[in-house]
Amino acid sequence: MTESQINAALKGVPAVKVRWHERPDRSNKTQILTQVLNGDKIALELGRKYFDLMQFWQHALNTFQTKHNGVVVFTAKIAAETIQQHLRDFVEYYVLCRKCGSSDTVFALDLWKKQVLRLKCKTCGKKKSIKEGNHILDEQIVFNLRHSQDNEERLAKERKKENEKLLTKAYKNIDRNAEKRLKRKAKREKKLQALVASHSIGSFA
Ligand SMILES: [Zn+2]
Repeated sequence: MTESQINAALKGVPAVKVRWHERPDRSNKTQILTQVLNGDKIALELGRKYFDLMQFWQHALNTFQTKHNGVVVFTAKIAAETIQQHLRDFVEYYVLCRKCGSSDTVFALDLWKKQVLRLKCKTCGKKKSIKEGNHILDEQIVFNLRHSQDNEERLAKERKKENEKLLTKAYKNIDRNAEKRLKRKAKREKKLQALVASHSIGSFA
């Protein structure tokens, strides 16, 4: 990937902003935590899940995540520039199409075993595996994708069942209405015949 392709993908994506928090660790020394203030916005702009981006950073920064006052933080003092540098790597490996450089991509799985993470490009249509990403992160993304696909398949099946139920009900109603109409028609004809019969009897009499 070229620098200009990475820059183009990062255009409109806000720069990483951090805030440091201090807290005493177990041995009562001061521990500094790093909170990325706009990780969710960055992920949203890149069309990626916040969780996946945070996991990538965690692996790349070789640090841990924890919660501090309900907010996800990294357990080390990290400069915004360092995280920004890793954001470029994330874009290079997990966003840009390796064929045409477009950032209009989505995660996909291989069709065969659904175990290999790929990037599917909406611009050129190519589906390429992720080469230089982080193996553990890839596995996590694959797991999440498979999980959500299973869910979607289950939901689709449920929707289909529900639709079939509604259709059957609708057809039954149509049948019932048609039956009623036929009965009414038969009744009318019977009446008419009776009328005609009585009239003809009358006229012959
Ligand atoms: Zn492409």
